[in-house]
Amino acid sequence: VNVKKYSIIVIGAGAGGLVIAKGAAKAGKKVLLIEKAHYGGDCTNFGCIPSKSLIASADVAFALRKAKTYGIELNSFSFDATQVLERVRCIVEKVKTTEDPAALSKEGIETITGIAEFIDPHILKVNNLFVSAKKIVIATGSYPFIPSIEGLNETPFLTNETIFLLNSIPKRLIVMGAGPIGCELAQAFSRLGSQVTLIHSHDELLNKEDPIAAQCIQKQFEKEGIKLFLGLRAHKVEFKEQEFFLSFSDPQIALIKADQLLVAVGRRPNVNDLKLEAAKVHYTEKGIPVDVYGRTNQPHIYGVGDVTGGPLFTHAAENQARSVLTSLLLLPFKKKLDKRQPVPRVTYTDPELASVGLSEQDTLKRYHPSKIAVYYVPLSENDRALTADRTEGFVKIITKKWSSKILGATIVAPRAGEMLCQITTAIHGNIPLRKLASLIHPYPTYSLAIRKAADLWLKQTILPIFMKKRKKL
Ligand SMILES: Cc1cc2nc3c(=O)[nH]c(=O)nc-3n(C[C@H](O)[C@H](O)[C@H](O)COP(=O)(O)OP(=O)(O)OC[C@H]3O[C@@H](n4cnc5c(N)ncnc54)[C@H](O)[C@@H]3O)c2cc1C
Repeated sequence: VNVKKYSIIVIGAGAGGLVIAKGAAKAGKKVLLIEKAHYGGDCTNFGCIPSKSLIASADVAFALRKAKTYGIELNSFSFDATQVLERVRCIVEKVKTTEDPAALSKEGIETITGIAEFIDPHILKVNNLFVSAKKIVIATGSYPFIPSIEGLNETPFLTNETIFLLNSIPKRLIVMGAGPIGCELAQAFSRLGSQVTLIHSHDELLNKEDPIAAQCIQKQFEKEGIKLFLGLRAHKVEFKEQEFFLSFSDPQIALIKADQLLVAVGRRPNVNDLKLEAAKVHYTEKGIPVDVYGRTNQPHIYGVGDVTGGPLFTHAAENQARSVLTSLLLLPFKKKLDKRQPVPRVTYTDPELASVGLSEQDTLKRYHPSKIAVYYVPLSENDRALTADRTEGFVKIITKKWSSKILGATIVAPRAGEMLCQITTAIHGNIPLRKLASLIHPYPTYSLAIRKAADLWLKQTILPIFMKKRKKL
């Protein structure tokens, strides 16, 4: 067979794959990028971009609803959110123009649209073409996991891949799964006028986060009228006469009816189409394991992004991709993946929930309680939050007790994601928390809560020792 040769083949034109293809082309490599269907991947098409665009509209709707709290009386108030989803799709299209085959070709990247599958460890088949390269990068991302619930598969339920295609905001929406995706979309649709019911199998929503932070979000959801069914699993789903009916195994719990049902209960790595057996690449249901250089068990085949099992974030995929790109360009030198830098996590609810490093619970598993310190500042002590009527959140920073080396942090605040960058910078640059106490923070910013947390090192950890000594004297 006729096999076309490249120096690098990248499979998947999402967050990770694009970084490698663009960087390698810039360095003059002969690059082929193979994409199944949607250039830009999950983030652009079905993830970050549409969800954050929807959230922006939802924030406006919510601000109107809350106008009175801020002393603004609207003469009459009602809104029609029909155009919101069209706006979301326009933004997605705009972003896509920088990532489509025409734009990529201008950057020197050859593309083929089709499913890539391995024929052997060096040759891939796409459509009816055979291609090979010295180095191959798998960046195929993840897809929504669908739980086995009686009747579910016979219904036209939605996932993140279809919800942004709706023509209107549903009157009643069930969201199954209260992880980051479920929570963000539940709140956004609720603010845009849907009556939302959120169902989660754990007792707390966002159960991987600090429980106090998750409770803050839960309180806000309850205040906004989102109906929560926590610690419960759906037992059966039916779709009759354009209506969803969801029931639990306990018949005491009422049947939930809705116009749309969103399933957001987890993600699985996209390994199925690749025929990895032919390439002798190992994988599990959690993804393709990679070594410190991002290599699979086949040293010439790399893996980046969601397909390697997480953390499932665009910034994590991009960071991994940048390390792998450096290795590909500097051969025979290799660059280790940036494992030492913790990956920040942000859930874009309102308030946002942002965290980095170890949680308080995880810290206690690794260190004796006497070796760590927890500094907590509620936003009710922050002037900016007071002026904006946004005192529901907090800053919590966990450090080694004496050195104040930062081990982790959780922030709940309107722009917690932006605030968190100060903490991630400090961790990255080995700056102990106590040093942030002398950093000049502009007044009145939400970030001053971080300085207040830094002040607590002196107040809460150091001064009490002197006080004790003085008492003894
Ligand atoms: C609703 C939602 C909201 C999100 N919000 C955020 C957020 O705010 N911030 C954040 O950091 N992350 C967010 N994420 C996660 C983020 O989208 C992913 O972590 C990121 O897209 C992963 O990048 P990737 O390169 O690994 O995969 P992807 O971007 O998914 O790209 C993989 C590409 O590979 C293609 N592909 C798959 N198999 C093949 C094959 N055999 N042949 C050819 N092509 C193939 C796919 O079509 C896809 O285009 C969100 C996700 C969702 C679902």
